[in-house]
Amino acid sequence: MRIYEMLHAKRMGEEHTRREIEELVRAYTAGKIPDYQMSAWLMAVCCRGMTARETATLTDAMMHSGDVVDLSEFGELSVDKHSTGGVGDKTSLILAPIVASLGAKVAKMSGRALGHTGGTIDKLESIPGYRTELSREGFLAQVRKVGMAVIGQNADLAPADKKIYALRDVTATVDCAPLIASSIMSKKLAAGAHNIVLDVKVGSGAFMKTREEGEALARMMVDAGRACGRRVTASLTNMDLPLGLAIGNALEVREAAAVLRGEGPSDLREICLALAGEMLALAFSIPAEEAKEKARAVLADGRALETAERWIAAQGGDARVLTEPNRLPTATEYPILAKEDGYIQSMNAERIGIAAMALGAGRRTKEDRIDPGAGIVLATKTGDLVKKGEPLAYLYTGKPHTLGEAESIFRGAVTQGRNAPQGMPLVLSIIR
Ligand code: URA
Repeated sequence: MRIYEMLHAKRMGEEHTRREIEELVRAYTAGKIPDYQMSAWLMAVCCRGMTARETATLTDAMMHSGDVVDLSEFGELSVDKHSTGGVGDKTSLILAPIVASLGAKVAKMSGRALGHTGGTIDKLESIPGYRTELSREGFLAQVRKVGMAVIGQNADLAPADKKIYALRDVTATVDCAPLIASSIMSKKLAAGAHNIVLDVKVGSGAFMKTREEGEALARMMVDAGRACGRRVTASLTNMDLPLGLAIGNALEVREAAAVLRGEGPSDLREICLALAGEMLALAFSIPAEEAKEKARAVLADGRALETAERWIAAQGGDARVLTEPNRLPTATEYPILAKEDGYIQSMNAERIGIAAMALGAGRRTKEDRIDPGAGIVLATKTGDLVKKGEPLAYLYTGKPHTLGEAESIFRGAVTQGRNAPQGMPLVLSIIR
């Protein structure tokens, strides 16, 4: 294969063969193709797109560029969930113990915060003692014993994606559906689960801003996963406003614990039950509605909370945080008050994520240290009527000099008006 010919072919909108794509990924990962040629290819893909077959081949080639976790000992029961990233999205902390309580096996490798979106591993690190690194044997032994384990992503997982993603980041080629689909799916497939539920977020706080974009991405990911022999479904969910009320690491663990105790915001609980239902439906081949009712039962009778306690303790964490949340790190609270009466018309979730990041809940550069207690707790959400002087939200930070900027970003993200806005459903559609 000559890379020059591949570049020309893609520029003209032609389809690559399997061999060409495999060779491209192999040679680039081995340092045999220079960054300028790979950048040109990525840009041609952004402009010309890829067929479903090309996307599946790229996914497969990147998946096999490194370690592939073997979960075959769990047969059909291994199940994973992936969210394309949102604000206040702490669903993994709730639905993994729910499905593990019912016998599914969750061997989860999660990521860190990316831009304005949070990451499960940063959230878990706010729990005193929690270990995000386990040996391969220790990880699998815990899944056998507890039914679940959640660790950070192994550096040997899909190294081709790591290298290509770094190049995309600096060549304006991140925002391209087939490249996003193959990047996400290569890592998910390498993590080994037989069943995968994708939570494709759509709206102001998501990478995909419209339903059409979200559906196209979801379809590509489902097809790429199925082409690799896995069972995959995708739910398109509303990220036009933050999920739940809490944004920020320890604040989100606190809210997830409340849901596990049978409390907490109803939007968060319902989305967790919907996604847990999808996961159980795949793992046990049962109808999704029946699976959702099983999920609701283990949440209501405390079994999911017990599983979460065993999981956190098994990874060295202080499981008492689930019932005594004051054991989690905290920061000083500052209210933001409404300046006028009116219904909350919209909340730009991305801007609210950026406000939380300014307070210390996320990283602006790779070197930034996260303040685990920092973040935002919303006092109101879209559709609520607020009176002048009532709290809109509470900001939390250990760095008071960040308050001015965070408050101004937050206020700019929220609009108020005279009429109640129309609500949007939590789950927009499901691709099964
Ligand atoms: N997350 C990923 O892992 N890859 C992308 O391309 C975008 C988001």
